[in-house]
Amino acid sequence: RSIPVVTVDGPSGAGKGTLASMLANHLNWHLLDSGALYRVLAVATEHHGISPADEEAIVPLASGLDVTFETEGDSRKIVLEGEDVTDVIRTEEVGSVASQVAALPRVREALLRRQRAFEQAPGLIADGRDMGTVVFPEAVAKIFLTASAEARAERRFNQLKEKGMSVKLSRLLSDIKARDERDTQRIVAPLVPAEDAFELDSTALSIEQVFEKAVEFIKSKH
Ligand code: C5P
Repeated sequence: RSIPVVTVDGPSGAGKGTLASMLANHLNWHLLDSGALYRVLAVATEHHGISPADEEAIVPLASGLDVTFETEGDSRKIVLEGEDVTDVIRTEEVGSVASQVAALPRVREALLRRQRAFEQAPGLIADGRDMGTVVFPEAVAKIFLTASAEARAERRFNQLKEKGMSVKLSRLLSDIKARDERDTQRIVAPLVPAEDAFELDSTALSIEQVFEKAVEFIKSKH
């Protein structure tokens, strides 16, 4: 494989998104935020009045999804059917619908080609749940980023508080546990570390420390 791919997988809230975009900026590589793709699809099903369980109807929507990921400097914009959905897709509600549509095997299949199209020179950082196991099994370096459910809920809590949103920590924790359960128990592409993944536990680390360890690992592989 001539174009290097580095995968960052793990449960929601472990800091994958932050790590992946730091790595992409640092290496000047492309970035695939595959969770965003599932989130955009979740919004599209709502727009089209389709139930998140209706696989038959979601498959064609997934294959024909009119979405663009635009990068300008360090800022990224996601446009669905002409509408800027960058912020809309980040709510807990959209995340929950995303994890429901993501459990449908033929929907995942329909998104494979689109995800692999991100593999472009000089390299790709791919962030998700099954990047190292299913989408890019031949990646040069695979990172599996975890953190305790409590630490993840707390980080999310602080993020939301900063944005002036009020939420209950206990509610966030139960949401995170429910999402973990769904993502790890599903039949297709469950959340598991690839055999050759470097498991990085961020519970007691700052994002800078996580970044340093990841860079070190990538250097040792690439
Ligand atoms: O990572 P993020 O929270 O944005 O992902 C939203 C949902 O999309 C996850 O809960 C998961 O169910 C699904 N997902 C997936 N496979 C990926 C990325 C995300 O199933 N590669």
